[in-house]
Amino acid sequence: MYGYSGRILHIDLTERKTWSEDKPEEWYKLYIGGVSMAARLLWENIEVGCDPLSPGNPICIAGGIFAGTPVPVGGKHGMASKSPLTGFIGDSLSGSWFSLALKRARWDGVVIHGQSDSWVNVFIDDDRVQFRDATKLLGLNTYETEEAIRDELGDDQVRSATIGPAGENLVLFANVTNDGRQAGRTGHGAVWGSKKLKALSIRGTHGVTVADPETLMKLSYDITQAAQGPHTAKYRIYGTATSVLKMDRMGLLPTRNFREGTFEHADLVSGEYMHEHNHVKTIACAQCPIACEQMCSVKDGPYAGAMTGIDYECLFANGPNCGISDIRTVIKLVDLCDRGGMDAMTNGVTVSWAMESFERGVFTKEDFKCKKYPEGFEPYFGNGEAAVTLTEMIRDREGIGDLLSKGTRLASRITDEERGTESYKWAMNIKGLENAGYDARALKTFALGLAVGTRGGCHNRSAAYDPDITGETDRFTVDETRGRVAGRSEEYAAVYDTLPLCKFIRRCFTGKADRAGAWPAIAKLINATTGWDFGYDEVDLIGVRAHTIKKAFNIREGWTRADDHLPYRWQHDPMTKGASAGYVVTDEELEYMKDLYYEYKGWTKEGLIPKSKLIELGMDDVAEEIGV
Ligand code: SF4
Repeated sequence: MYGYSGRILHIDLTERKTWSEDKPEEWYKLYIGGVSMAARLLWENIEVGCDPLSPGNPICIAGGIFAGTPVPVGGKHGMASKSPLTGFIGDSLSGSWFSLALKRARWDGVVIHGQSDSWVNVFIDDDRVQFRDATKLLGLNTYETEEAIRDELGDDQVRSATIGPAGENLVLFANVTNDGRQAGRTGHGAVWGSKKLKALSIRGTHGVTVADPETLMKLSYDITQAAQGPHTAKYRIYGTATSVLKMDRMGLLPTRNFREGTFEHADLVSGEYMHEHNHVKTIACAQCPIACEQMCSVKDGPYAGAMTGIDYECLFANGPNCGISDIRTVIKLVDLCDRGGMDAMTNGVTVSWAMESFERGVFTKEDFKCKKYPEGFEPYFGNGEAAVTLTEMIRDREGIGDLLSKGTRLASRITDEERGTESYKWAMNIKGLENAGYDARALKTFALGLAVGTRGGCHNRSAAYDPDITGETDRFTVDETRGRVAGRSEEYAAVYDTLPLCKFIRRCFTGKADRAGAWPAIAKLINATTGWDFGYDEVDLIGVRAHTIKKAFNIREGWTRADDHLPYRWQHDPMTKGASAGYVVTDEELEYMKDLYYEYKGWTKEGLIPKSKLIELGMDDVAEEIGV
């Protein structure tokens, strides 16, 4: 087989044993790699209905079809486990050198089972696997852990995925970090922590064999040239933070826990402002000619020395959404999350929930006692030092940080039960995952995409904000096209997440981000890598199948139509300012759009998948288990 090794590595932490599983080429043609293959491995290996933090929840890692080849932005891998935040599929992407090391060690995927009884660093050294004591790595942050492992092994080519203190402490939105990138959002870090897995290290020394190296090189060269042209200029110069001012103009920039969509100090936290005052350098993932990561530092004030990469999502969550206008504080907050190994988006949205709860009297100063402030502190919106302290408390699960470490859904449920309050009304999550940085009250297609999303409030998996924002659809209204548009958007995104290719390359095939140009070009890349004979239809089906396996996983874990919901606020509290003021997504609109979406997908009215549909996709065994 070209492009693959045909082998999956299984590691049992309980028994400390390993085995190799061979997969047939047909299996690879169905699930390809990235989030789709990781989700499929999870489907095959999980104890159905298990507690996400129990030994029955495996960690599944799947390589990329293009990792280690010249294909630009193909150095990525997928990770899947049952999410402790949502109880449904937790699927993430990360990239860079770790992905390449996995491929070069000749493993297409890794499944980590069980639970170790002491802290461990698993080291995959090509075909050999070592279980190394990780006790001395405890308490180190994510960057320090990677460095310490390289020093210990005496090889700077060893690549590690690690958890920081947040993962060790089972913060439910802890991330897994490699090479400064994160497999984020759904709490993989807590799953690693529950297994006492501090790090997974890989040394891969083999080359990658492809079917037609000459053609692959030529195709890759052309795309690389395009990737350094105008289609990616905004990412290369300002990164995604350039979206702050545009979202503000459109009234979509979440501000003070999604109360409003416009921030009076947006110019002080814009990508442009940050570029002028805080930019240090631009860096890239391995195998990427675009380089979107804008490293920013704090040069003065109490947080001087903080430095990390800042993108739009972590910026909105820890800046405007907490009412914070000092970009230095935002950098400090994101740096704390990155070093501590926790999701900066969920952190910001959870801190903003605590801020609103404080301002509404649900919490008092007394609730915020901690070592740093024994008398407590007042986390009103805009109080940057309070946000920093809360973030540290969440990472360490100190005081009220223990409650907040569970994310907004659980934190609001516990609070409301204990205090008789209604803080769920401003808990901004979907299925337990905190929302991304686009207010969906006046992005109706996106609202549907988020509600039905398999991993919750995630813009990356839905991509349905694109038609609303570009004007392809009328973002303020609902019509009969929305089911199809939202469905096609998530299937489109799933193609990129499965190969995986970074989505920032999407305009570099023909200049447009559409299927017509990209799918034939991607088919050529797949064929030159594997020797297969894919065309437009086969590429399109990659996305459909990837989404279907994730949906099937959720159904088997107990999903019902009621789980496709929106936050209370988006359905009941219109914004009062800006270009999106006055809108909510009503129950009638949401249920109507869900009907349209399930119909487009060919599912039942209850959102279940007919057996025939699964068989059509080659997923016969899945049909047996959950098909109706
Ligand atoms: S564009 Fe950015 S996120 Fe995408 S591969 Fe390149 S550096 Fe990584």
